[in-house]
Amino acid sequence: MNRRITVLEEAVYKRIAAGEVVVNPAAVVKELMENSMDAGATAITVEISQGGKELIRVTDNGIGIVAEDVPLAIQKHATSKISTLDDLDKIGTLGFRGEALSSIAAVSRLMIQTRTADSPEGTVLSVSGEHGPEIISAGLAEGTTVKVENLFYNIPARMKFLKNTSRETVNVTSVVSKLIFANPHISIKYISNGKVVYHSPGNGNLKDAIVAVYGKDMAHKLAKTDHTFGEIHVHGLVSQPTFLYKSTNYMCFFLNGRYVQSKNLQSAVLRGYGERLLRGHYPFSILHIDLPLSRADVNVHPSKLQVMLYNETDVLDTIQKAVHTSLEESSAPPVLSFAE
Ligand code: ADP
Ligand code: MG
Repeated sequence: MNRRITVLEEAVYKRIAAGEVVVNPAAVVKELMENSMDAGATAITVEISQGGKELIRVTDNGIGIVAEDVPLAIQKHATSKISTLDDLDKIGTLGFRGEALSSIAAVSRLMIQTRTADSPEGTVLSVSGEHGPEIISAGLAEGTTVKVENLFYNIPARMKFLKNTSRETVNVTSVVSKLIFANPHISIKYISNGKVVYHSPGNGNLKDAIVAVYGKDMAHKLAKTDHTFGEIHVHGLVSQPTFLYKSTNYMCFFLNGRYVQSKNLQSAVLRGYGERLLRGHYPFSILHIDLPLSRADVNVHPSKLQVMLYNETDVLDTIQKAVHTSLEESSAPPVLSFAE
């Protein structure tokens, strides 16, 4: 080994960087679906085969990409979502790093088909690893389809780390279900190996979105939660204390529509249940926390799963109160009314 320092060639650097965003098929599905959501889609179809290892295809009816910008979409740090430093303090979109498509393009065979409402023709871009991109015009429906084939075909070491098909499928399914809960106003259809797994109605009702994933029986086990404190609005559904799980896997949080993981948020929900919880048991809870963009920093990690909240205590108290109140109301004895 020579001990001189050199700046890495772009091709080498790109593949290393790609690994940070694109770790598995589930991560690709998340990035593509979030792009569809940022594009204002009201309907999204996600198809995978072999757990996404062979194929991932996400189709939306969003705003599309104008023809001139299509080559930019796969360039790193190219985004339509932020432009200035100030924008970083008030991120209202799910994406903003401009990394996903460029990373995916570096490690798969990628095709983007897209058309905006005011363009008579659509654009098709194909790229695979270091080859391409090739761009042609074509008649297309309005919206965007992104197809990702043979993930990591050019990185054998990465490919080896992919889990077996059923494990990767479980991971994708988990991501899709969370995005369904995050977006009750979007109709999401999820197809794995040709079979429809979920199809949410997109009518804006969170309970219907939950039923689309967990089935009809779930609807009766949930209590509605809604509480506002100042600028903090907490709303969603939590399970009756008679319906508990032995893990915290069924506690989901969406901060301004973004799925986030946080032990502190979990603890706040548990405090809301208080004595109602059996030791070692945890509720099913899907809570949306909406607050001004400037009160949260999502730019903590590329996966954007963690988030920093300013005045976190207020948020935690509001969650606790929201949960507590909804359980009080739902378990209160029925009010008898007498005719005069
Ligand atoms: P980011 O989402 O962080 O901006 P991406 O690499 O995911 O970065 O996407 C790059 C750009 O491509 C986006 O900023 C957006 O302009 C465009 N784009 C990607 N997917 C879609 C889509 N489904 N519909 C419309 N535009 C899209
Ligand atoms: Mg994106």
